[in-house]
Amino acid sequence: MPAELVLRNGLVDVGAGRFSRADVAVSGGRIVGVGEGLEAEEVVDCTRLAVVPGAVNAHCHSNENWFRGMWDNLPLEPWMLFSYPVLAAPAQSPEEVYVRTLIGGIEMLRSGATCVVDFLYELQGFTEELLDAVVRAYRDLGLRALIGLAIADRAYHETVVLDEALVDPALIARLERDKPPAWPEWESFVRLAVERFHRPDEGISICPAPSGPQRCTDELLIGTAGLADELDLAIHIHVLETRMQALSGRRMYGRTLPEHLDDIGFLSPRVSFEHGIWMTPSDVEIVRDRGVTIVHNPVSNLKLGSGVCPVPELLRAGVNVALGTDGMCSNDGNDMYATVKLAALLHKVWNVDYEEWLGASEAWHMATEGGAAAAGDPDGLGRIEPGRRADLVLLDLDSLAFTPLNDALRQLALGSTTMAVSSVLVGGRFSLREGRLTGVDEAAVLAEARARGAEIVGRHDEAFDVGRRLLASVRQGWLAAMGTDVGVERKLPTR
Ligand SMILES: [Zn+2]
Repeated sequence: MPAELVLRNGLVDVGAGRFSRADVAVSGGRIVGVGEGLEAEEVVDCTRLAVVPGAVNAHCHSNENWFRGMWDNLPLEPWMLFSYPVLAAPAQSPEEVYVRTLIGGIEMLRSGATCVVDFLYELQGFTEELLDAVVRAYRDLGLRALIGLAIADRAYHETVVLDEALVDPALIARLERDKPPAWPEWESFVRLAVERFHRPDEGISICPAPSGPQRCTDELLIGTAGLADELDLAIHIHVLETRMQALSGRRMYGRTLPEHLDDIGFLSPRVSFEHGIWMTPSDVEIVRDRGVTIVHNPVSNLKLGSGVCPVPELLRAGVNVALGTDGMCSNDGNDMYATVKLAALLHKVWNVDYEEWLGASEAWHMATEGGAAAAGDPDGLGRIEPGRRADLVLLDLDSLAFTPLNDALRQLALGSTTMAVSSVLVGGRFSLREGRLTGVDEAAVLAEARARGAEIVGRHDEAFDVGRRLLASVRQGWLAAMGTDVGVERKLPTR
């Protein structure tokens, strides 16, 4: 039986950094053949195209999408006072959330990502209706998504290092009063969301995403791990993004956060740690032994001054590493190929022999096969071979990025590849075809976002004011963390 679609004679990424001319046949959303002379109902000539697996953007927060370009020169904790209001987060309508999700998703599709892990916060409170808006956006766009429901149950002031003497006691009382829901409430929402929306074969998956171990009680963390086992779900969690988090963990548990998570039985191959920067050598061993994936977000880590994830050390230890853009205001873009490029370049600055540097090939691997596990689909994504999902990107070999063509892999990972994205298939269907989105009217979506954006940002005035009232105390906490030994010196070398 002929396949539904054959991509004829493209320059195909056949794995391990090799490219060769081949046909790729697609049926039922999956790749069914890679070879020569394959037949199909529809044949697309790819002679002037490279055919590569779609990248997995393994960490992103679509809730930040209205905030592009809002802040600079703020480290994570002070930055979060504004980008993640601790109180008075304003409501957004389902229609606003729908448009918000689309604008980030469009940028990802246009920069080579076919799957996103959207670690979704709804600070005004999750509802089925808002989640439905996010799901509709990804479906309409034709972008595969694992939506992580961000959950936490500790009051804000318990979760950071801050100087409480600098905070108005009335504000502390309000933080106590308005703390997030407890695990039983979260558990029923996660169950409901899974039942209603978790359809991996239709491109939408759901998972619980505890915000960070220092923001969650053990009851919530243990409950999450049990629920993920019961329902066969992935788990995403921010771990050791900053020095302050490393210090919080030691103060709260008297040990590192990965040690604590391991002690309570939270760790397994279901789990992805976002960032994983401030890990001790023994944390790296725990992560490796439990099969945890680390999601590396180089742009965000630089913008927020969080540090540099020890990727060469992780890869040497045998840890799976994925790549993410992170959200729209710790990156100010969702350009996946720009993230691949930065990941390929950044780790040359460690003080190691250049024969051990990592570069194009490792970064490309992290963005594709490395991301498959983080997306909860280790055998389905990340490679072009029969049986895998037909999530493919067609790159224009006549574009500047490949002119002249010297080395496809290096030009892909180190060049201006986003400008070469011609078409994108997700589950065997074109989401982008010769430069045009097939599922949504892009110009209308952008016009809508322009019309609504300033008003929605303006709605945050009270929330931003609360942030300003907490800033002095958090700044003191940040300075204290900077001066504290957290058991790992993760400084780039001075030569
Ligand atoms: Zn994050």
